[in-house]
Formats: sequence, C-alpha cells, structure tokens
Amino acid sequence: MIVCENLQRSFRGPAGEINALAGVSLSIGRGEFVVIKGPSGCGKSTLLLTLGGMQRPASGRLRFDDCDLYEIPASRRNRIRATKIGFVFQLFHLIPYLTVRENILAGLPPNEAAAQPLARVDELIDLLGLRPRAGLRPGTLSVGERQRTALARALVKQPALILADEPTGNLDPHNAAEVFRFLGAYQREGGTVVVVTHGQDAAPYATQTLHMAEGRLGPPQPGPPRAQSNAPTPPFSNNS
Ligand code: ADP
Ligand code: MG
Repeated sequence: MIVCENLQRSFRGPAGEINALAGVSLSIGRGEFVVIKGPSGCGKSTLLLTLGGMQRPASGRLRFDDCDLYEIPASRRNRIRATKIGFVFQLFHLIPYLTVRENILAGLPPNEAAAQPLARVDELIDLLGLRPRAGLRPGTLSVGERQRTALARALVKQPALILADEPTGNLDPHNAAEVFRFLGAYQREGGTVVVVTHGQDAAPYATQTLHMAEGRLGPPQPGPPRAQSNAPTPPFSNNS
C-alpha cells in the first residue's frame, strides 16, 4: 500500500538544522498494523504527516497504492487524503461547537456528507458506545469519549489507512486498551493502521514494530504471528 524510499526532511531550529526525516525507507502492506516507537523529537509526527500527504518531504519518494503521492497534483493528493486516510491525534482535535454526531459527520469528504448513508454514522455511534453522548459537545465528554468520537470521525469514511499519532497519550489504561481494540478490529476487517505509541497495548496487534531515532527508522522487528493475537473479535462489518 505504501512504499517510501529515502525520505528526507529537515527544519531549522534555534540550535541549527534538525533532521526530522534522515533517510526513511519503509514498506507497509495492506492490512498491516505498524507500530512506531521512539523518543520525543525523533521525527515520528513528521513521518505520519508525510505518509498522510500532509507534509512534503525535501527528497525521497512515497508511493501510495499506484501513485507517487508528492508527484501527483495537489488536488488529487487532497482527494486521496480526504477519502482514503483517517487521522487520529493525541489531543483529539474535535470541533468544540459541534456535537459528537456532527463531529463524526465532519470526517466525511466534502460533498459526501449529504450522500453518505447516515446508518454508517449511527452504526459507529453505537459501536463506540457514544449513543447517550451523540447530541453533546466535546467539552462535556470524558477524555475516553472524546477519543472514541475522534476514532468514529476517522472511521466514518471507511478509510483504507488510519494514521494515529499517540492516540492514547492522554488516556487512562482502560480507555487506551479500548482504542487499540477498535483499531485492531478495523485492521481485522482489512484496514491498515500506522500508529505512534509508547505503551505495550498495541503489541498484540502489531505486524511490524519500528523504532525511530534522530529521523531514522531502526530495523523492523516482526510482531507476533497474528494467529497468536489475543485481540478481541471485530465489531466492524463494512469497511472494505
Ligand atoms: P516527534 O513526533 O517524534 O516528537 P516531530 O516529528 O514532531 O517529532 O519533530 C521532529 C523534529 O522536527 C523536532 O525537533 C521538531 O521540533 C522539528 N519540527 C517538526 N516540525 C517542525 C516544523 N514545522 N517547524 C520546525 N521544526 C519542526
Ligand atoms: Mg509527535
């Protein structure tokens, strides 16, 4: 699904040039669950943004399915991002003046909110346990509910790829495990996940675990065989 070759990107900081991506190559197959670890400032968020078509590398190549993501016109890149890629962030990034339901609808590509069968939105609201909260604004939710809303927003377009940047960094262990359970279920239904995380919660799902340091990825470490995964069963029925 994704093949990167020698991605490079640096930033000028107060102490000089920082290599956020210092020659990153990686290959992610459809249906993988890739876990990226590494210390703060090593380039993890820059890598996710680059994979998601949101940050152009200074050099290197990035193939997404059958196209070179930074060679195609911006309009096509934006379309791929809007239709095929869901993002989940540590700080949720919900729209404060919209309800839970409206925030989830905001995850649909422009022009599709009207055409999309709303059954999908309600299915996600039930699946993620948000039914009693659907009409409330994010400010009144618990952090776990906020992140489940953000997950629903990412999932509503049935993306081929989910990029999650420390999605459990602000959650307690119970809610963190729930987030990985939902990401694992999405993967089992054929979705592809790339997640930056520090905890062990993602380990049962991982097909590749990569370690990043100073803009470089260390040798991939194979995850446990999927047959041994103790991941709970998938609740997703329709995200091909
Ligand atoms: P991580 O997510 O691993 O903490 P980041 O990818 O956010 O790391 O950042 C890697 C390095 O690049 C850091 O030193 C950060 O300050 C720097 N950096 C990232 N984005 C920018 C930017 N837009 N402008 C300047 N420096 C940046
Ligand atoms: Mg980061």
